[in-house]
Amino acid sequence: MCAPSAHRAHLFAIVLIPILEACSDPGLVCCAPPEEVDSHLTGFEQRSGLGFTTHQEELAFLAAVDAESDRVRITEVGTSVQGRPIHLVRIAHPKPSPDDQIAAGPVLFVVGTQHGNEPAGREAALQFLRDLAFVEASLLPDALSTVTVLVIPTANPDGRFANTRRNADNVDINRDHLALVTPEARAIAQVIRDFRPDLVVDAHERPSATTPDLQLLWPRNLNVYGPVRDLSRALVEDHLFEQLPVSGRTVELYGPGPGPPGDENEGILRNAVGLRHALGLLVESSGQQGAQRRAAVHQETMNEVLEFFGNRSGEIVTAVTAAPGAKEAIGRERSEPFYLFGADDNAPTPDQALNPPPCAYELSTEQVTTLQPQLTLLGLQTEQDGSNVLLHMDQPMMTVVPLLVDADARRPIVAGVPRVSEVECGSP
Ligand SMILES: [Zn+2]
Repeated sequence: MCAPSAHRAHLFAIVLIPILEACSDPGLVCCAPPEEVDSHLTGFEQRSGLGFTTHQEELAFLAAVDAESDRVRITEVGTSVQGRPIHLVRIAHPKPSPDDQIAAGPVLFVVGTQHGNEPAGREAALQFLRDLAFVEASLLPDALSTVTVLVIPTANPDGRFANTRRNADNVDINRDHLALVTPEARAIAQVIRDFRPDLVVDAHERPSATTPDLQLLWPRNLNVYGPVRDLSRALVEDHLFEQLPVSGRTVELYGPGPGPPGDENEGILRNAVGLRHALGLLVESSGQQGAQRRAAVHQETMNEVLEFFGNRSGEIVTAVTAAPGAKEAIGRERSEPFYLFGADDNAPTPDQALNPPPCAYELSTEQVTTLQPQLTLLGLQTEQDGSNVLLHMDQPMMTVVPLLVDADARRPIVAGVPRVSEVECGSP
């Protein structure tokens, strides 16, 4: 869509960059007189891709966009382990709705740089939100007439600062979207709970890869509501695999299975958003390509996702709206197995499925206390039952219940006692 130059006529602020200070030889090209640089360019753009946007530059950039575009509202939704802010940018035309109304409409959520040594998605996210903020209204994507765009440009600010994959506690945020022990993953979980996105883009890089331009993948977890997974897959196979090559990009599937990478792990955001009833897309650029190219392919992908959302918004909204009730009914009727393992390209063995699934798990009061952050952030309800607490399967977020509390799951937080018998559950 819009290159950085497309918005420049709309800019207000001009700042002078004292590049003379960096020069030792006045004969060098870099010692030309100070040039005018607008504050709505990222640090990365100002340096033509020679050096990623710094933390301080990001703060100034977001503040300028927030102050000067009616289409934008930015708040902190969390802080990192080392206390850096995690910002949520809301973009809509003519302006974002109040927060408590955004969830009721279509929402696209873009997450940049969960892995701090994968910076291109963050650069693309900053440019993407800026272009949506300032491009002429007539050039806005059609989808923005109804869709609210949410962006967390830097989900792992400590990791970006240190150029490390993990956060400052040495935890991989993109394996933490079920356990939710990191403040960074908790911030993302809270946004998903409060804004109920319909589609989530998670921008990554493969640091040692040279090709292709992009690898892409949808939520493979088998507990994702079928139409949500099908539409996520259609975004990759029917839209992005068709459109990105038109502009010369090479695209492939990420980690074709079976088995990791690209598996069903519920701690990965790509799968976690599917379990939370949103379409999901993993985007992986090749980290050994030029930085500007990597940022550009990420931004093109974000624009294409918005295009797909606009084209198929009826189907997407229908699937995402139906998913919670459909899953609640499946949990109540126990009409489908629950899959502790296995992916849509890797059939589970019989012992990896709960068939029939429990109707509920009994938890002790102490277990509920341990589990409280996950219950709260994932929107799960419990019921007091004598001295125990019941975590029922007939609720919209049953998609994560056994993963959290079944002793045979990959990484349960506590081991609850499943209720399976007809005596306990009634006839299925
Ligand atoms: Zn990554």
